[in-house]
Amino acid sequence: MDRIYLSPPDVGAHDLSALSRAFDSGWIAPLGEEVDAFEQELAAATGRGHGVALSSGTAALHLSLLMAGVGAGDKVAVSSLTFAATANAISYLGAEPVFIDSEMDSWNMDPRLLAEALAVEDIAACVPVDIYGQMADYPRIEELCRDHDVPLIEDAAEALGATLHGFPAGSAGVMAALSFNGNKIITTSGGGAIVTDDIDLAERARWLASQAREPAPHYEHTTVGYNYRLSNLLAALGRSQLADLARRVDVRRSHNTAYREALEATKGVTFMPEADGSRATFWLTCVLIDPSTGVTSEEARMHLEAMGIEARPVWKPMHLQPVFSRYKTYGGDVSASLFETGLCLPSGSTLGPDDRDRVINGLLSVLSGGR
Ligand SMILES: *Cc1c(COP(=O)(O)O)cnc(C)c1O
Repeated sequence: MDRIYLSPPDVGAHDLSALSRAFDSGWIAPLGEEVDAFEQELAAATGRGHGVALSSGTAALHLSLLMAGVGAGDKVAVSSLTFAATANAISYLGAEPVFIDSEMDSWNMDPRLLAEALAVEDIAACVPVDIYGQMADYPRIEELCRDHDVPLIEDAAEALGATLHGFPAGSAGVMAALSFNGNKIITTSGGGAIVTDDIDLAERARWLASQAREPAPHYEHTTVGYNYRLSNLLAALGRSQLADLARRVDVRRSHNTAYREALEATKGVTFMPEADGSRATFWLTCVLIDPSTGVTSEEARMHLEAMGIEARPVWKPMHLQPVFSRYKTYGGDVSASLFETGLCLPSGSTLGPDDRDRVINGLLSVLSGGR
């Protein structure tokens, strides 16, 4: 039987013809019609005025923080429960992360802990992460950031296609970062974007991402720039992927429903809650396996692994990572317990019902063995 992956790329003939269309146009560099169109389509998908296509989500976070004015010695409030890229981007600027724990309702940044941090610390920017395809509590977080005059950058890398009270992921804050890495809901093999309503920020991002070249024939430079643009070829791939976004959200949500229906009756097994007004993509469906089941999440993971099924622990929170553990953290127990008991299940849009049943049966067998 074939190995079942957590979230493999979903690419097909349609993507290939988009790539050959771009190839045949002769525009192979990080410039061209496909990039322009992809940027407009990303802006439309996130309810924004402008999009800037970049080489990765990490690059999008790095440039967003830079443009928000974050520099050496500054403090940036950031979700502790995230992938390292969010905290790494803060470090690239010589700034310090201030980690904010999750709330249980959504697993996202707890606004009460953010309020505590804002009251005590001199925070230069705030980066909530939309974890596993669910948007953070932006009505409350935006209000807090406004009150303290702190720029808000949404890390929507995992959440393209989600909504909160009807607002799309990518629409919160002054800028939002998207990712099109191979494991994300749409992929350009590697890629990312900034979306924003501010045309000056969008133009500045394009300029910084193209080595900050002044318009002189010899390329005059007054600012340190970056090589962060997305190629026209990959933008074509991104466009055909983005056109399929709604179906992908539906498929990932249907996995979540199926996993819930199959496992909900098992005592000690719970799922990431979908908060009020939130429509998550469930980029990954994650379960919490309480040790009272007789099985740890790690034992369940190894059981699935032996069946050729890739599952993974919930992100190890940044405040527990050796590279970041010296930084200040508000709270910390919630994300630590999510890491301790959480397991992310195969959730890709290529996962068929038969393979999904294999995952469910594997989980049911390890859970009943434990009892
Ligand atoms: C994937 C991811 C990123 C980074 O995106 P890349 O395109 O891989 O650089 C940033 N933040 C979060 C939360 C992610 O999951």
